[in-house]
Amino acid sequence: NPAMPQWLAQRAQLTPERMAIETKQERLTFRQLFARACCAASALRTAGVQPDDLVASLQSNTVDCVVTIHALMLIGAVMVPLNTRLSTEELSRQIRDCGRPLVITDQDNLSKAARASERGGSVVLRAEALTHSHTDQETVIKDIQLNRPCTVIFTSGTTGHPKGVVLTSGNHWWNANASLINLGLSADDQWLCCVPLFHVSGLSILMKSVIYGMPIYLMKKFDPERVNHLLLSGNISHISVVASMLRRMLDVLGPKRYSNTLRCILLGGGPVPAAMLQYCLDRRMPIYQTYGMSETASQAVTLPPEYMREKAGSAGKPLFPIQIRIDKDGQAAAPGEPGEILIKGPTVFSHYLNNKEATEEAFDDYWFHSGDIGRIDEDGFLFVLDRRKDLIISGGENVYPAEIESVLSGCKGIRRAGVIGIPSPEWGRVPIAFVSLNEGAHFSESELIAACNAQLAGYKVPRRIFVLNELPENAAHKLLRRKLHAIYEKMVQ
Ligand code: AMP
Ligand code: MG
Ligand code: MG
Repeated sequence: NPAMPQWLAQRAQLTPERMAIETKQERLTFRQLFARACCAASALRTAGVQPDDLVASLQSNTVDCVVTIHALMLIGAVMVPLNTRLSTEELSRQIRDCGRPLVITDQDNLSKAARASERGGSVVLRAEALTHSHTDQETVIKDIQLNRPCTVIFTSGTTGHPKGVVLTSGNHWWNANASLINLGLSADDQWLCCVPLFHVSGLSILMKSVIYGMPIYLMKKFDPERVNHLLLSGNISHISVVASMLRRMLDVLGPKRYSNTLRCILLGGGPVPAAMLQYCLDRRMPIYQTYGMSETASQAVTLPPEYMREKAGSAGKPLFPIQIRIDKDGQAAAPGEPGEILIKGPTVFSHYLNNKEATEEAFDDYWFHSGDIGRIDEDGFLFVLDRRKDLIISGGENVYPAEIESVLSGCKGIRRAGVIGIPSPEWGRVPIAFVSLNEGAHFSESELIAACNAQLAGYKVPRRIFVLNELPENAAHKLLRRKLHAIYEKMVQ
C-alpha cells in the first residue's frame, strides 16, 4: 500500500511561515494551522475516533472547519462533509447511511445537526471545542495511505437516493497534481474559496493548499461584491465558480476589469450560457471552462482560455493523466458522435459507500460511466451535451426529480408526481412539479410547497406545482418527463 507523509505535517515542516489560510478576520500560517489541527486531532482521538472511522461534518466555510478536516486526515479518519442546505430529514438519512458517525458541527448549524443526529442516532461534537482544546497528549500521526478512503461525498442519484462517493487520499493527491500540471503554480498564487467546503469543488482547494504550499482566502458565504473587491485588489490568482455565481459577479462589476494577477477563473459544475462566455471572451477574462464531478475528485477536463473562441462551449481536454472516451452502445463513438462520457484515471473514485450494485453498474474495466452525454471532436475537445439522466442543476447544486417526486407522492391526496427543470436566468434551472390527484382529493399548491419545504433543501422545492388529470406515461406506466416539458412549453406560450 503506497504511503506518504501527512501533507499538512510535511508542509508545516517545509514552509512553516508561509500563509496557509486567510479570512476577513484571521490569518494562519502553515505552522499555526498544523498546531491547531494537532490539537483537534488529539481531541478527536480522546473522543474515541479511530483510524478508518467515518466522521461527518456539518459546517460552514470557517477556519475551524478547515482545521477539523485536517485533523481527521491526520488521524486517518474518513471525513463525510454534509451539505448545510439539506433538510433535517435528508441529513438524518445520510447520517444513518454512514452507520451513525460522530457529527462535527458549528454554531451556525448546531440546531440542525442536533435534530438530524437525534433522528439518525448519532452524537454531535462542536468544532470550536475541538480546535481550541489543549491537550498534552501527543497525537500519533500516521502516514497517509494512498489507497485508503479519505472522504465520502454524498451525491444525488437518479433514483432519488443519494450515494456516498468514496474518494481515497490518492484520488485527492492526483487531482491536486493533475490540476497543477494543467494550471501551473507561481510563488504568490492565492486561491479564493467561496464555494462550499462540503462540495468537492471547495474541498479540492484545501487539498491543493497543503500540497502546493499555497494560501487560500476562505469566504464564509458567497458575496459577489466582496468577491469582486478581492479580485480587483490584486492578491487573488485563482477562483472556482459555477455559472450562477459568475453571473452575479458580472452583474455588479460594471465596466471595471479584474486585476491582471487573476489568472484563472475555474468555471464548472454545469453548463454555461453561450452569451456569458462571449461576454467574458470580449473582456479577455481568464476563463477556464471545466468538467468534473464528485466521482472524479473535481476538475477532470479543462479548456484553456486561448481556445475559448475556436472551441466555444467546449469543456476542453482531459487533465494529465486522465483519459476520456465516448461510448455508444458499448462501442467507441466516432469523432463528433454523441454518447456517454467515460472517464478513467487515478482521480476516479474507489466505490459508492455500501452500494455494491451502484458501484458495479458505474464501472466497466476501470472506465467510469459518468451518465453524462457528450461528444469529442476531431481535435480531442469534449463538448458536454446533456447532463446525467434527468439531472437538474440549480445554482450549481444537483437536484434529481425522483427526490422531489417521492416527497410529493407521499403527500395526502396525491396520486402521482412528475418534476422537471425549467430554465431560469438566475439559477440555470429550477424545478417545477406536476401532480395528479386521488379521486375527490383537494389541491392546494401552497400546502404542497410547504410540505416540500419541510422535507427538502430549499433549492429542491418546486417553484410551481400544477395539477393534471393524468401524468403522461408510457405503456409500462413509466413517467414521461419529456412530455411534461412539452406540456410546460404549451402553458407558457
Ligand atoms: P457533482 O458531483 O455535484 O460535482 O456534479 C457533477 C455533474 O455536474 C456532472 O456529472 C455533470 O452532469 C455536471 N457538470 C459538471 N461540469 C459540467 C460542465 N462543464 N458542463 C456541463 N455539465 C457539467
Ligand atoms: Mg453530484
Ligand atoms: Mg455540482
